[in-house]
Amino acid sequence: MRVAVVDCLASSPTGKRVSSVDVIGVGPRLVVGILKKLGVDAHLFECETALKGPISSQREFDVIMVSGMSADLMTMGMVLKKWKHVNWSIAGGPACVDYEELLRLGFNAVVWGEAEISLPSLVNALRTGELSSVPNLIFREEGGVVSNIVADYAREPLLWSFTPDVGSVKNYRYFWACRVYVEVVRGCSNFYRTTLPVVLHNKIIKCEHCDICKTGDLEDRLSCPLMIPPGCGYCLVPRLHGPARSRPVDQIVKEIEDLVEIGVTRVVLSAPDILDYGRDWLVRPKPLTDPRYPPANIDALEKLLNAVSSIPEIEKRRTYLMIENVKPNLVTEEVAKVLGRYLRGTSVNIGLETGDPEHHKQLGRPSTVEEVLRAIKLLRDSGLVPYVYAIYGLPGESWKTVRSTIKVLKKATKLGAERVILYRFRPLKGSALGGYYAPRSNPKIRALKNFVNALEISAKKKLLGKSLKVAVVDVHGKDTYIGYTLPHGPVAIVKSSEDLRGKVVDVVVHKVRKREVECVPKQSA
Ligand code: SF4
Repeated sequence: MRVAVVDCLASSPTGKRVSSVDVIGVGPRLVVGILKKLGVDAHLFECETALKGPISSQREFDVIMVSGMSADLMTMGMVLKKWKHVNWSIAGGPACVDYEELLRLGFNAVVWGEAEISLPSLVNALRTGELSSVPNLIFREEGGVVSNIVADYAREPLLWSFTPDVGSVKNYRYFWACRVYVEVVRGCSNFYRTTLPVVLHNKIIKCEHCDICKTGDLEDRLSCPLMIPPGCGYCLVPRLHGPARSRPVDQIVKEIEDLVEIGVTRVVLSAPDILDYGRDWLVRPKPLTDPRYPPANIDALEKLLNAVSSIPEIEKRRTYLMIENVKPNLVTEEVAKVLGRYLRGTSVNIGLETGDPEHHKQLGRPSTVEEVLRAIKLLRDSGLVPYVYAIYGLPGESWKTVRSTIKVLKKATKLGAERVILYRFRPLKGSALGGYYAPRSNPKIRALKNFVNALEISAKKKLLGKSLKVAVVDVHGKDTYIGYTLPHGPVAIVKSSEDLRGKVVDVVVHKVRKREVECVPKQSA
């Protein structure tokens, strides 16, 4: 059996990435790794290649597995249409919550949640045609949709028994310049829930404040008596990926060494919260469902960062090391110092989402607004570059919450937040707030957007005349090239009469645009 795994994450219907253009995620590589370990001949395709490649190469495959997010449903459907010759088509990734739509598009089955749980049985089932015994698989049968969701999460020894395929990274055209995500934590420890009204099975449900999800036994926090999904109301991570579980250091180091060996220059330690690393080991065998206690496991974190930073290419700064998110409430002076020791000058993402203390709590955030501000200051003082995230159009948004958010973002910027990134609220199906309507624009949204746009423009203007290091990946137009800022920054358009493709060049920024910066090579500036 030959399986084509297609990465449609964040792709437009042309197959081109619309956001996070320089990201290579963990999921599709892990699926290939699992399949290969199960003895299946698997090959990973970028979405664009899967859409534009010749039909003849598709005929070599029996099965297609397509990974995407809810926003990628249309693209996933287009891939399926193009690959109509395969015997089986399976969808997966965060888009699994939209299984009804995926089945309607023509996929034979949808894998729910973590691949390790379903794929070993699914491989056998695809040979026999008997899908009914595959856990966490949803498929259509005569008479309706069959859902085998066991609502569990992968535990050791199954968890971490498979490793993401490294060689597949080379199937991404610009892999050498991309941020390659290496999983260090699966799932999230925030099992608090939103206290905003939630629509479940066409009924409006409201938290009854039994407090199980905040003070109950760690095992009991996994489920709410009212079935309100866990975590921040707009997020799906705890529901789809379970509580936080940390990957052993030696596995992480080995994967990064292998990636460096094939030429990867940027590695992101991927975790919904890097500060959850090793906290689960302090409470096992119970699940880590408390986002505040125990505090960060400094020993585990230091061991991880020390081991990874000792990889020669990272030590010599020829490969860049980055992290993503932290829960503000877990940032202490000691934590900030450890992060600063290994990650000085790199960005770190902090979720504010809303600056109104009551609204912040209602969303199910594990932190307080004050803790967000304190984390920004501590991380900045330790040499990191904090980015703050906020969301517009959230349920419960009012003029009061918008005014508070603007006030807090002003404070955050003064305390050292380098950028504010404003997202639109998306009511993800399956999340607690999935039943809400998401307005695209209204006076409150415009006020927030205008404020953040002005901040962004002034942050970008600071780049004018500054030097950047850019990995140039392709031609953009006549005598212009496109590249990624190293270690992390805006997409760069570089003007040059010399062919710069495949080179890392020092440039000077001479113009800032909304999404990119325009630059010239340093020697010609
Ligand atoms: S477990 Fe459910 S009902 Fe109880 S406090 Fe949490 S969200 Fe509310």
